[in-house]
Amino acid sequence: MRAQTKLGWILFGYGIVAFGIGYVALRFALVLPPGRYAVMQGLAVATVACIVIGAFAYLIAATFTRRLASLAEQANDVRQHPALHAVEVGGGGDEVAAIARVVNDLRARLTDGEEARNQLVADVAHELRTPVAIIRGHLETMLKGAEELRPENLLPLLDEAKRVSRLIQDMRDLNLAESGRLRLDREWIAFAPTLDEIVSILALEAEDKDVTIRTEGEWGGELYCDPARLKQVLVNLIGNAIRYVPEGGNVLVAYEASPGELRFRVTDNGPGIAPEHLPYLFKRFYRVEASRNRMSGGTGLGLAIAKEFVEAHGGSIRAESALGEGTSFHVVLPLFPLHP
Ligand code: ADP
Repeated sequence: MRAQTKLGWILFGYGIVAFGIGYVALRFALVLPPGRYAVMQGLAVATVACIVIGAFAYLIAATFTRRLASLAEQANDVRQHPALHAVEVGGGGDEVAAIARVVNDLRARLTDGEEARNQLVADVAHELRTPVAIIRGHLETMLKGAEELRPENLLPLLDEAKRVSRLIQDMRDLNLAESGRLRLDREWIAFAPTLDEIVSILALEAEDKDVTIRTEGEWGGELYCDPARLKQVLVNLIGNAIRYVPEGGNVLVAYEASPGELRFRVTDNGPGIAPEHLPYLFKRFYRVEASRNRMSGGTGLGLAIAKEFVEAHGGSIRAESALGEGTSFHVVLPLFPLHP
């Protein structure tokens, strides 16, 4: 039964009882002596007052239940088509208006989530299109006999396959981090040797472009972190710097520790990034120059992953850049005492 009907029945019963009491009171008042007559008259007036108050109470409650019924109907429309409907809040600052605002807030989250999901699917499809088209093209030419099945002809296929698997791995990591399900296998590791290890891994890539990588720092302490994730952050930042500086460029990784935190920055003298791009750099698949940077082999997720990994360790990351001068990525990580 609807709340308004239920309320109507309750007040109807209440009215009948009140009317009965009033009627009996008046009947008695007519046959009783004057003293008692006054008491019964009072009772009758009180009963009439009760009926009037009841009627008012009914009107107020009926208005509320009507608004609640309309809210329930609108909320149902929102549930079915969140992009098309919103709930009317009305001018009142009461509880019904508060519920309407909460419903609209939930609707906004729902539509944002849907938009983000659609955007993600579009981005992933876009990222996969190029490598899959290249693999398919090469295979088709080989099948037609226009290209021989020689190792050097297979290399581009292998590169694209690696790119796809890197993209899948990156998306998996990012998804875990963004949903707060990233598990950190923390241990104590010395920072300087870890950095040297990453620099030596990337040295080959740097040599190919005649890029010089320097490290600068005195701190010989240990970090309590997940080594694989820290290495990934370093690879992404230093790898980007090597990729985006022109031939013969320079990359510097400088670090220093102060009580409670380790700060490091990866600086390059590359082309720099225009200020209007800086707020979006850490968003997934954001690229300053979409087509050129896609050709450079990145997945467009490197900085988004670096940010999630740094934040999972309780740290922070930010970018600083000047067009034509270069770019710096600054990272701060919390340091814990070795022996508390
Ligand atoms: P990608 O895989 O495309 O490198 P990232 O998330 O690592 O994706 O970087 C996002 C974008 O930020 C890059 O496409 C590039 O435009 C810009 N970027 C990142 N690092 C640098 C840098 N050191 N110098 C100039 N631009 C950079």
